[in-house]
Amino acid sequence: MESSPSKEIAADVVVVGAGSAGICAAIAAAKAGARTVLVDAGPMPGGELLTGMAVDGALNARGEWILGGVGRELFDECARLGGYIGPLNDWRLIWYVCFDPEVMKLAVIRLLDKYGVSLMLHSVLFDAQAHDGRVQAARLLNKSGTVRLAAPCFIDASGDGDLAVLAGAGFDLGGAGGEFQPLSMMFRMSGVDTDGLLDYLCRAPENFALGESDAIRGGRSDAQIAQEVRRQGQPTVFIKGDGPLLAGAIAHGAMYPTALIMIQPTSASRREVCLNSTRVANVNALETGALSAVLGPLAQQIETGVGFMRGNVPGFEHAVFSGMAPRIGIRETRRVQGLQTLTEEDVLQARKSDLGIGKGSHHVDIHQAGAGQIRIPVRDGGSYDIPWGCLVPRGLSNVILAGRCVSADRAAHGSVRVMGPCMAMGQAAGTAAARLAGGEWGGDVRQVDVAQLRRRLADDGAILDGTH
Ligand SMILES: Cc1cc2nc3c(=O)[nH]c(=O)nc-3n(C[C@H](O)[C@H](O)[C@H](O)COP(=O)(O)OP(=O)(O)OC[C@H]3O[C@@H](n4cnc5c(N)ncnc54)[C@H](O)[C@@H]3O)c2cc1C
Repeated sequence: MESSPSKEIAADVVVVGAGSAGICAAIAAAKAGARTVLVDAGPMPGGELLTGMAVDGALNARGEWILGGVGRELFDECARLGGYIGPLNDWRLIWYVCFDPEVMKLAVIRLLDKYGVSLMLHSVLFDAQAHDGRVQAARLLNKSGTVRLAAPCFIDASGDGDLAVLAGAGFDLGGAGGEFQPLSMMFRMSGVDTDGLLDYLCRAPENFALGESDAIRGGRSDAQIAQEVRRQGQPTVFIKGDGPLLAGAIAHGAMYPTALIMIQPTSASRREVCLNSTRVANVNALETGALSAVLGPLAQQIETGVGFMRGNVPGFEHAVFSGMAPRIGIRETRRVQGLQTLTEEDVLQARKSDLGIGKGSHHVDIHQAGAGQIRIPVRDGGSYDIPWGCLVPRGLSNVILAGRCVSADRAAHGSVRVMGPCMAMGQAAGTAAARLAGGEWGGDVRQVDVAQLRRRLADDGAILDGTH
């Protein structure tokens, strides 16, 4: 394979990484008329969007939508195909958007197809040909051999910042003491009796995390919140690691240490929920051997978790394991250094900016080892703006960041990493990239007229103003 000549492909916009950020970036660029290639190392576009989790940060904790545009189009397509559950109050900290991940696969493929995005799957970016801070081509490795993908503008939506770093950008990695948020494997159980689960919540609210933000609690007691959850009628509950049920099981070795068992609906017809509870902390996921070695322990935790739920949690007596994420979930690796850095203060104070190109609202959410987790809500249940400069890697003139690798301090990253803001960043990156590829703003990401970009994003349905 090494002797086969490198294949040459030219595009207007190249997007590396087909997760929530990359999908929205590619769709936005293609809608704006750019010949767009979307690259992914895996076999299926979707990234973490397909693992069963809900989209956080699409609404704020007051229940106001802060995500519009392409992200909402994706939800609409999922609804058209019968897989959309919609926004739910988690009655703890946030509102999130639930859907069936199997149907979301179809929705993603249909929209990419509809807008003429060229997919390049099974292709790993391994090199960036760059000169004076300008990337000429991304080099990929796939079954055809090596591919040289040239374009005037690139978007790094790889989660890990692979493209920007290969091109020479600086980055921060995990925590200052070498710690990393845990790796987790999401899994699903079907045949859940929602009424049984919600009755249990009302009988024993001390086992559940409830009303952790004032915006959600609204002065209610735990018992009143439990009644609100029952009224909502959806299996969205969080069994807390320091409540008597789970703490007891952890103490007796019947469960692995975990902060929460997060439960959210994925399909009413399958009576199915997604569970987020497994965890192995402080592994550098950029070390592929170390990452791969965690698969076994996570699979063991799933087996233990399924047994715990069936044996101890009313509503799950007859539930069965029905699926798991297609890959290990990575919360944290590199944060690329940008012209601007989103800060913890920006997030917690719900700071607005004239240079904002999208919004976030998720609490500062840093999972730790064992049963530890930092959860700090955004002020007054509001939202913050993500300034354009956070998407622009320092020292590069034609690469835009979108998604998990955005420039943020560690605490702000604990909020902006969720999928609502990733989608908003993706749309902004794709919209700007199409114009840059056409020669606007001198083709330099640092010269983007953010007021113009904001007008275009607003015309395309993005929500930039008018929310808390
Ligand atoms: C266990 C867990 C639970 C979470 N819970 C939630 C939740 O409930 N709600 C929520 O909104 N968010 C949640 N998050 C956070 C959120 O899922 C991610 O931060 C977000 O999806 C990141 O989106 P992204 O598009 O930046 O990256 P990803 O979705 O990770 O996509 C990146 C893509 O890039 C590809 N790629 C990477 N490197 C290369 C390369 N060199 N060459 C080619 N392709 C490459 C990958 O294959 C992948 O498909 C959770 C995360 C984890 C891990």
